[in-house]
Amino acid sequence: MNSETSQIYQLALAGVQALIPYQPGKPMGELERELGLSRIVKLASNENPKGPSGKVLSAVREVLTEASRYPDGNGFSLKTALAKKLAVATAQITLGNGSNDVLEIIARTFISEQCEVIFSEYAFAVYPIVTQAVGAQAVISKASAGGEYPCYGHDLSAMLRLVNNKTKVVFIANPNNPTGTFLTTSQLYGFLTELPEHVICVLDEAYFEYVSPDERSDSIAWLTLFPNLIITRTFSKAYGLAGMRIGYSVSSAEIADLLNRVRQPFNTNLMALSAAEVSLADSEYLNETIALNQQGMVQLTNAFTALGLSWIPSKGNFITVNLGRSAMTIYEDLLKAGVIVRPIANYGLPNFLRISIGTESENTFFIDALINVLD
Ligand SMILES: *Cc1c(COP(=O)(O)O)cnc(C)c1O
Repeated sequence: MNSETSQIYQLALAGVQALIPYQPGKPMGELERELGLSRIVKLASNENPKGPSGKVLSAVREVLTEASRYPDGNGFSLKTALAKKLAVATAQITLGNGSNDVLEIIARTFISEQCEVIFSEYAFAVYPIVTQAVGAQAVISKASAGGEYPCYGHDLSAMLRLVNNKTKVVFIANPNNPTGTFLTTSQLYGFLTELPEHVICVLDEAYFEYVSPDERSDSIAWLTLFPNLIITRTFSKAYGLAGMRIGYSVSSAEIADLLNRVRQPFNTNLMALSAAEVSLADSEYLNETIALNQQGMVQLTNAFTALGLSWIPSKGNFITVNLGRSAMTIYEDLLKAGVIVRPIANYGLPNFLRISIGTESENTFFIDALINVLD
């Protein structure tokens, strides 16, 4: 029986029926099983190549003795640490099982079937998923073609022109994934000033820590000016905890109160709460992560230059390279060489591959494989 005509399938919301499932980076174990390769390098999911910090590992081992108890459903300890670091009240924070969980909570709190949701072409794949899942209308803004905003990035002026009285949420990722493109403080601030107050702006800062301090927006300070602003951040990237699943939003206390009503009581687990709190204080790990990323970015862009390839300038921990032709066979040939990268045809960029920045040795392994594949 064709699942699309089955009775059960027809019971699902129209938006859910039309959903294309999120395609994660290929897991290393899967490639290992398929090809029996001795070395596999995964540069596909923007994970931290350093692995978790030793401090996190010992903290997590310690809390395991409490695994028979429910975690603190309010995440008091982590929220207190975050509030102190960000100079906000704990009541402004909403914890999520990864920041994707928070994005979904936001959708379920604010977006109904009658609403429109704006995001950019080539923006993060989770925005269309959470929009469609609640049956709302996705309004896709054409990416910038260069000029005022970076090429392939969000065109904030175009996004503003799409706002109407049905618009409920605008998603903006800064830096954006998969393009790595970045909006400056004055661009974002100008956008927020123009955005009507009935529209929630979700500013997704998953890669915030990778942006140099002089270029970062002090977005948290804007919360006092824009009551319709929600900032999301994560421990999955620079803090190296993707497998733990923990992220958060910072907003007005009023919005956080609403989000926390929708949030499942124990959406963040014991280990993740502890790991996040420890990693937040581990500035050494964070600094090493950022330095490693900067070096890796130089290593990869130098290699692309030598190969005559262009790329989209990135402020994240990944870089999207233009192969100038369909990237699928190159992706598959790289797999055979033991390198997993990310094809992004599903984002509308079929000639590009997104490469997460690895360690020096992982980057070298990838570059050597790419040189062979392109030969
Ligand atoms: C990786 C990423 C996230 C983080 O997802 P988690 O659920 O926190 O692991 C959020 N937004 C963007 C744009 C990302 O690339």
